[in-house]
Amino acid sequence: MMTTKELPVINLFDTKTRKLQALKSSDGKSLRIYGCGPTVYRDAHVGNMRTFLLSDIVIRLAKYIGYEIRFIQNITDVGHMSEDFVEDKILAQAKAESKDPYEIAKIYEARFHTDLKLLNITPADKYPKASECIDLMHNLINELIKKDHAYVGSDNCVYFSAQTFPSYGAISGNRLDSLKPGHRFEYSEAGAKRFHADWALWKAAENRTQMIWNSPWGNGFPGWHVECSAMSLHYLNGFVDLHLGGIDLRFPHHENERAQSNCIIDKEAVALWLHGEHLLFEGRKMAKSSNNVVLVSDLIARNIDPLALRLCFLENRYRSQMDLSWDSLKAAHQLLQRWREKILIWQASDSMQSDEGEILISQIVADLCDDLDTPRALQKIRSIEKSQSISDGVKLEVFNKIDKLFGLDLFNPPNQSKNLPDHLNEILIQRQKARSEGNFSESDRLRDLLSENGIAVNDSKDGQTWNWLISD
Ligand code: AMP
Ligand code: ZN
Repeated sequence: MMTTKELPVINLFDTKTRKLQALKSSDGKSLRIYGCGPTVYRDAHVGNMRTFLLSDIVIRLAKYIGYEIRFIQNITDVGHMSEDFVEDKILAQAKAESKDPYEIAKIYEARFHTDLKLLNITPADKYPKASECIDLMHNLINELIKKDHAYVGSDNCVYFSAQTFPSYGAISGNRLDSLKPGHRFEYSEAGAKRFHADWALWKAAENRTQMIWNSPWGNGFPGWHVECSAMSLHYLNGFVDLHLGGIDLRFPHHENERAQSNCIIDKEAVALWLHGEHLLFEGRKMAKSSNNVVLVSDLIARNIDPLALRLCFLENRYRSQMDLSWDSLKAAHQLLQRWREKILIWQASDSMQSDEGEILISQIVADLCDDLDTPRALQKIRSIEKSQSISDGVKLEVFNKIDKLFGLDLFNPPNQSKNLPDHLNEILIQRQKARSEGNFSESDRLRDLLSENGIAVNDSKDGQTWNWLISD
């Protein structure tokens, strides 16, 4: 690998210092990246996907310019309490669906991976689950107790002592002395904590019977924030070059994680904190209560290529709040089709390595290195597409490289995406089989089923092909 000194610099906005900061490999070998992953009690919505895409944009760019990456993303399957701090989100959902909590976690984790695949999001090197890292958390909590940063409360919960970490609040700007008692930002039994802003690292089981573990402090379960310290330090070998998450995680989740991790290694554990702004849908916050939660599968049901969602996200800067709509998704779908059609035309010429192409690509890379200015890069891509003076061969070369950075599968034929969900792929396979066995009534039934799912099937002498149907 090249040494980091020779590589172009990627500047990102660090939430803690509120400044652009160069992304660097602290060990000179790889970039160590940690992203907060999903709590797997429900399907991730398109807002969550915007945040998960953020790591992918950085990783594609960093890989493109020559960095090696080690990326860890956790799966929270225990310890994340509901907004009213009454119940673990996984246990509440297990009750609602009359299923085992581990089954709930398994179902929604699998769906999360399917959604990532549909959006061409680079998978992490490892997805540690909270429930499988209990020992790591015990070790970390023990160490914090030894160092007097944590204590066992009268309720047998273990608490982090916020006042032992004077720079608490540096990421979010929330200062300990202005966090009022009674402000409900953390679950606890009243009176068991020494200070109102302390938070639970380990919670006593009390009446809870599922997802509990034995510990030096009695049966219980971990607090949510502790998993990210334990996993990031363990799987990234003691330091994080870049930590990502949605803006809502700044406080208390990332403040608490920073306090825990820094107190373990006695220095800053994260070099750069990157936060993505939230997504609104048609002007409103997505919420179950407003009935406007949109999933990737909803796009597929409306015959919109999931990569159109990816394109919509790229059209907006990650640090700005963004409003998504069905109209913008449809427009992005059409733009993808147009680019794919143009590429088919350009492919009549040979791709041409040229100085002109190299300069155009380096300008696009420079936009991305400038705090991921994807809208500016896309503007350039549009003008390259439309240019009368750039030859088709050069356009082909540029789009080929762009596809690696933007992950839009532009070299798929128009109206196709390789990212067909598994269950639809399975129906296509069954239909192929039915046709080859001469079972035409079954193949017609499966054609109708595919059509209901937004897929048109065509039969030719070379076999079956398919494309997305797009509705108005
Ligand atoms: P959760 O599964 O609720 O823990 O959320 C997973 C990730 O999605 C976190 O990094 C959140 O910050 C992020 N997130 C939640 N809601 C939105 C939204 N509307 N837009 C963008 N990111 C979000
Ligand atoms: Zn986290």
